[in-house]
Amino acid sequence: MSDPTRPVGPKIIAVANQKGGVGKTTTTINLGAALAELGCRVLVVDLDPQGNASTGLGIEPSERDLTTYELLLDDVALDSVVKATAVDGLMIIPATVDLSSADIELISNEKRSFLLHDALRQRAIDEFNLDFILIDCPPSLNLLTVNAMVASHSILVPLQSEFYALEGLSQLMLTIREVRQSANPDLRIEGVVMTMYDARNNLSQQVENDARDNLGELVFEAVIPRNVRVSEAPSYALPVLQYDGSSKGAAAYRNLARELLLKNAQLAA
Ligand code: ADP
Ligand code: MG
Repeated sequence: MSDPTRPVGPKIIAVANQKGGVGKTTTTINLGAALAELGCRVLVVDLDPQGNASTGLGIEPSERDLTTYELLLDDVALDSVVKATAVDGLMIIPATVDLSSADIELISNEKRSFLLHDALRQRAIDEFNLDFILIDCPPSLNLLTVNAMVASHSILVPLQSEFYALEGLSQLMLTIREVRQSANPDLRIEGVVMTMYDARNNLSQQVENDARDNLGELVFEAVIPRNVRVSEAPSYALPVLQYDGSSKGAAAYRNLARELLLKNAQLAA
C-alpha cells in the first residue's frame, strides 16, 4: 500500500499513554503485524528502555548493538539500526536499557525535542519504502515521549478497559497541546483503542461507554479483548497474528488495522 497523496513518506504514529501496562507495546507489535499482513511496510521504533517491543518481535540482546539510543544521540545511519523481523514487511529499531539515560542526556542537547523527528524525516528513510512508522512510547510523559510526539503525524492511545482509565487522559491531552503549541502544530489524535476488554465484565462496558460518550468518534470501533493468546505471543517472540492467527486477539488487531487504513484513506481523499 502506498498513498500517492502523501508525498512526504510514511505516516508516523506514536502509540502513547503514560500509564504502564495498558497495551501500548502489545498494540504496536500487533497493529504493525496486521498492517503488514494487509501489504503495508511498517517500521516499529522501540522508544521504551524496557525494550519489550524488541523482545516481542524476536530481536535478541546480541542483535541490539545499534539501537534507538544510537539513532537519537550518535548520528548513525538508518540502515544500521533497522532490523528485519520474522514478519514480512515488518521491521524494528530495537531498544535496550541504555535508552533510560537518554532522557537525561537529551536535556542539555539544543535539539532535544527534535532528535527523533530529524532521524525519521531524513531522506534515507525513503529507501525502506515504508507506509507506517509506529513508535512504542515509554510509560511516562518524559523527553522520549515528547520526541515521539514531535516526530509523529498522530497519536494512538491505548485505553485499558478498567476503572480510572480515563483519568490519565487529561494529562496526556495537555502534553499533546503543549507539543502542538511549541513544535508540531499539525499533531493529530489518530484515535483511542480500548484494550484488554472483557465483555462479561460490566466495568469494561462502562469504561467503553464513558470513553465513547466523552471522546466520540476518536474511539475506534475495533475493541481489543483480553485474550490469553495475546499475552502468550511475546514469549514466543511473535505477534499474535503469527502465534495464533485464529485467536480473538488476532482478529481484533486485524479489525483495528483495517479501520485505521480506512480512516487514513478517507483523510487523504
Ligand atoms: P504497556 O506497553 O502499555 O506497558 P503491554 O502492551 O506491555 O503494556 O501490556 C501489559 C501486559 O498486558 C503484558 O503482559 C501484555 O502481554 C498483557 N496484555 C496486553 N494486551 C492484552 C490482551 N488484549 N489480552 C491479554 N493480555 C494482554
Ligand atoms: Mg510497553
